Amino acid sequence: MSGASAVAADGRLAAYDFGPDRPFQAGRLDAGLSLLRAAKVLDEDDLLAFGPAADADLELIHDRDYLEALARFSAAGAAPADPVEATRFGLVGDNRPFPGMDQAARLVAGATMAAVDAVAAGDLAHAFAPVAGLHHAQRRRAVGFCLVNDVAVAIARCTRAWPLRVLYVDLDAHHGDGVQAAFYDDPRVCTVSLHETGRYLFPGSGEVHELGRPPGTGRSVNVPLEPRTGDDGFLAAFDAVVEPLAAAFRPDLLVTQNGCDGHADDPLSDLTLSLRGFRELARRLHKLAHRHCQGRWVATGGGGYDLDRVVPRAWALLWSELSGRRLPSRVPSAWLAGRAASPDPANHALVGWVEPRQRRRRGSAGPGARELEERNQRTVRAVRRLALPPSVRVVYPLARRAGGAATGRLPGWEPRAGEHQSAGGPLVLRDRTPASLLRRLEVDPGIHAFVRDPDQEREVLARIAEEPTGEVVVAHTPEGLVVGYVAVLDPEPGTRFASLPGLLEVGAIEVATGWRRGGVASALLRFAVEPDPFEDLILIASGLSWHWDLDQSGLSAVAYRRVLGRVFEAAGFETLRTDEPEIAYHPANLFVARVGSRVPPARRAAFTSRLLRGHHAMP
Ligand SMILES: [Zn+2]
Ligand SMILES: [Zn+2]
Repeated sequence: MSGASAVAADGRLAAYDFGPDRPFQAGRLDAGLSLLRAAKVLDEDDLLAFGPAADADLELIHDRDYLEALARFSAAGAAPADPVEATRFGLVGDNRPFPGMDQAARLVAGATMAAVDAVAAGDLAHAFAPVAGLHHAQRRRAVGFCLVNDVAVAIARCTRAWPLRVLYVDLDAHHGDGVQAAFYDDPRVCTVSLHETGRYLFPGSGEVHELGRPPGTGRSVNVPLEPRTGDDGFLAAFDAVVEPLAAAFRPDLLVTQNGCDGHADDPLSDLTLSLRGFRELARRLHKLAHRHCQGRWVATGGGGYDLDRVVPRAWALLWSELSGRRLPSRVPSAWLAGRAASPDPANHALVGWVEPRQRRRRGSAGPGARELEERNQRTVRAVRRLALPPSVRVVYPLARRAGGAATGRLPGWEPRAGEHQSAGGPLVLRDRTPASLLRRLEVDPGIHAFVRDPDQEREVLARIAEEPTGEVVVAHTPEGLVVGYVAVLDPEPGTRFASLPGLLEVGAIEVATGWRRGGVASALLRFAVEPDPFEDLILIASGLSWHWDLDQSGLSAVAYRRVLGRVFEAAGFETLRTDEPEIAYHPANLFVARVGSRVPPARRAAFTSRLLRGHHAMP
């Protein structure tokens, strides 16, 4: 094995084969690896050794009786599977049993485990398991060509062996439902799946409200995208969600499912991505791994059913990115000639690794294209609102915010300092805290809504303070330790109330664990809204049914809502009813507003008219 990257695959994996009449067949291994070899970016030294997964590993994710059925149905010369039992375990249709399937599935899981283990242990920086990423398999059911959930097994094993936090990013056209289900309540594994909306595509799940279950709430993230989203839309959604999510979650290890069945030529989906798009996504994942995971990255091949043109090139682009090996300028002609049996003339026509750049025609985006773009943007905004802490949304804005002069919503006043006697001792309250001061203060480790590292939290606060319309109000000890803060922000562009003039959002309020008694939050908020200019403004705030550290607070969602409601009411806010989808979807969500005494009646009316719009459907 050479270098810091390896491929976890060999000829044994060809045994994972549902037969020539099924999209998931043995040919994928040979089609893909033969191109890597022909392009001279892979040789025997790059292959990572692995064996079949043992019962103890598989049972981290699967039930024993399901594994026993797999073994029974897989035995050569076995009697035909009992149809009732086969149906119960999903071993019918797409997943009909084939001889040796048990061993083949164990090898797939073994390859992914070897890749994840080697990267988690630091033996490799990156690893690629091409015949892997069987993301649909459930605890006791085969689904969508997936007999065992190799990624879930490998992640579960590694989070038990090491105290690692894992970010799982699933780019397959289909929702990564099995991996999501495996970690739905696990706070150490954050799964994010970008996929074609389940309204049209198997498996039908992956809606934005599938957020996880305590104590893992908020760690399941879904971005369902419209058919015909294309590269630009897919990349925009990736940028708006995955990068900030990584910044907030602070993973130790990145595991990705790089299914290429979202390609325009793939028979199974309509996302209309291109090889250019996959190359871009690989670059972004690579950067993300180095920026947020100390480089640790395991990529799996996932789905992809155009074995002639798409899968081999997509794997080559991914492996080239991950290994740093340069591909030759053209797809080797010997390889193309060797694929003579390929029924796809387009494969032979494409001598490059990606499609030729298409000249963009001006005005080609018709009303249909605009509508789907708007739908995707609505989805992305909803996901961000639900899955990202407000402070992180500010640091990773959806669109460039307008300059201070253009909005100028937050008027000027002299910075003030006040005092508050808390149960934990005296505190200094300070508004208009400049970024330069925030960078000199320390942040109590008990402030950790989602960002784990106090230094990172301090930087987030400083970045808010640098926003033209962002204000940070802090409570700190006389020694300069920040134990609470309120952030007042421009609402995120494009949201329901964003375009109203003279409206700001209390985007975040947090008090460190250990300082929550003694009314620190109420004192901070009252202090924050005291300055006279707030009488010209409308302030809004929302509290969602879950909170990043709600689990540690020991409060139920309903109790949390009550506490939050009291804190805001004490500062002159009132609770309002709104059908804004991100609030209305859960009864424990809270929406409050404080309308300043000098807000003109017309503006107040404009605000009120937006509270209820009468459509309840999520995007
Ligand atoms: Zn690297
Ligand atoms: Zn797929």
